Amino acid sequence: MKPWLRHYPQEVAPDVDIPDYSVAELLRRTAEGYPEHTALYFHGKKMKYRELLAAANRLAAGLQALGVGKGERVAIMLPNCPQTVIAYFGTLMAGAIAVMTNPLYVERELEHQLRDSGASAIIVLDLLYPRLAKVRGEEPENGPLPALRHVIVTSIKDGLPFPKNQLYSLKQRRDGKRPAVPYGRHGVIAYTRLLRRASALPKETPIDSARDIALLQYTGGTTGLAKGVMLTHRNLIANAVQTAAWCYRMEDGRERFLAALPLFHVFGLTVVMNQAVLRAGMLILLPRFEIEPVLETIKNLKPTVFPGAPTMYVAIINYKNVNKYDLSSIEACVSGAAPLPLEVQERFEALTGGKLIEGYGLTESSPVTHANPLWGKRKIATIGLPIPGTDAVIVDEETGEPLPPGQIGELLVRGPQVMAGYWNRPEETAAALREGWLYTGDLAVMDGDGYFAIVDRKKDVIIAGGFNVYPREVEEVLYEHPAVKEAAVIGVKDAYRGETVKAFIILKEGRTVSRMQLDRWCRERLAAYKVPHQYAFREELPMSMIGKVLRRKLHEEEAAAVKDA
Ligand code: AMP
Repeated sequence: MKPWLRHYPQEVAPDVDIPDYSVAELLRRTAEGYPEHTALYFHGKKMKYRELLAAANRLAAGLQALGVGKGERVAIMLPNCPQTVIAYFGTLMAGAIAVMTNPLYVERELEHQLRDSGASAIIVLDLLYPRLAKVRGEEPENGPLPALRHVIVTSIKDGLPFPKNQLYSLKQRRDGKRPAVPYGRHGVIAYTRLLRRASALPKETPIDSARDIALLQYTGGTTGLAKGVMLTHRNLIANAVQTAAWCYRMEDGRERFLAALPLFHVFGLTVVMNQAVLRAGMLILLPRFEIEPVLETIKNLKPTVFPGAPTMYVAIINYKNVNKYDLSSIEACVSGAAPLPLEVQERFEALTGGKLIEGYGLTESSPVTHANPLWGKRKIATIGLPIPGTDAVIVDEETGEPLPPGQIGELLVRGPQVMAGYWNRPEETAAALREGWLYTGDLAVMDGDGYFAIVDRKKDVIIAGGFNVYPREVEEVLYEHPAVKEAAVIGVKDAYRGETVKAFIILKEGRTVSRMQLDRWCRERLAAYKVPHQYAFREELPMSMIGKVLRRKLHEEEAAAVKDA
């Protein structure tokens, strides 16, 4: 299949060579080149690159001392904090595979992920330990997770920088509010103890970066049971290098990255964590996105780079006191994971003076495949161009034949960031990866200049009276209404049309609007078959941690409501 040929003007991006070192090597190189630069900032404390490397080395040695060997899976269930970064690099330095685990997982999801990945160790926050203990059962050796031999428990305070010779303090562990953790039994060990006892350096583990898996990243939670995406060291290095090429005017050793995106999601992992380390930048770690602390942090710590999800930028521009904060340090923001409404982009740029571009990607591609240029021509309501080293093509859903510009079809991508496959799922791998192309499941269209626009997810298309309605298009129109803060559109059952369009709306504070007014607004801007027939006004919408509206949840609520009626 002939992909679209890219000839980027120099101001858009340089070409890239993908180095073939491991992810662990990425940290080693930066720590060698910039040992005294601040790597992490967390709750007023800092950690330098040489300290981060030392901690990761120790963790790696500790894991090896427990017998965790090459290729074994180590789950990491932590919010953004220094231990997340240490655990990730430490696991890879030990030659093991990191399994990033969402701290919000309920027991069922956690059990599935740990069982499916066959993790032999987990590094978990003490506050989350009770959930894990429930899953493991009273007798973990005979419980549902027999492979899980080691549970390494850390407290949020363990990650702060420490005086010499007393690397980690154990004191806060006796804090009465912490859940009781049965250290010393059932393979449960304190993170601090593991590090104190470990040697300073792990045993060297040779890594074949093109073949060895670095990360099992679970995805598909919106469609059913999650599956593990196998990303190799090369996949992750490639995507960090590709994104860095896109942001080529950023300077090594200078940038400050606001880590508001969760690092356990591949977007935060690559575009924030790996990117910051590649750039010898400072990672400003925020455990969660809360509007006031985020604005305070921007004002005080002056981050230059702030990758995020659209909901984060929406929250900022709509915050009533936003003008009190100086946000002018922000130079570059990449929005991904979901569509970025035009109004949000314009207002955010006006507010900060920085650039906010829309990009696109998916877990299966580490994740970034497309972005609008930071410097050079960008196009609103598109995901921009394939990033360096990436091919993309639109194919007819039925025939699989490439389509010319202007026609909607499935987006396929190819490049060094595309996964090795799904863990233990050869059939699903064969369906998603064909002849080197990744079938994204997204419907998209390319214009004559090679800019792509996502039309929708294949499975989210609403078929109303035989017409295809793309929820995203309707949402865009609703977003433009001055009273609407957020909008989500799904198809609901309709006796006459098969499916009909339903919109869920969150209004801006202090604003009201009637169904009739919204109806008129949509009728002026959309073909009649796309206009919502039903509206529901909400205080909030079900969101994933990364800020994607969970349309599946809305569908479930609808189905339940119909059953109850
Ligand atoms: P995940 O693997 O969880 O990161 O989800 C990937 C999916 O998010 C893609 O297949 C798209 O459906 C969606 N997505 C990511 N970026 C965008 C974007 N800029 N616009 C629309 N959808 C997006």
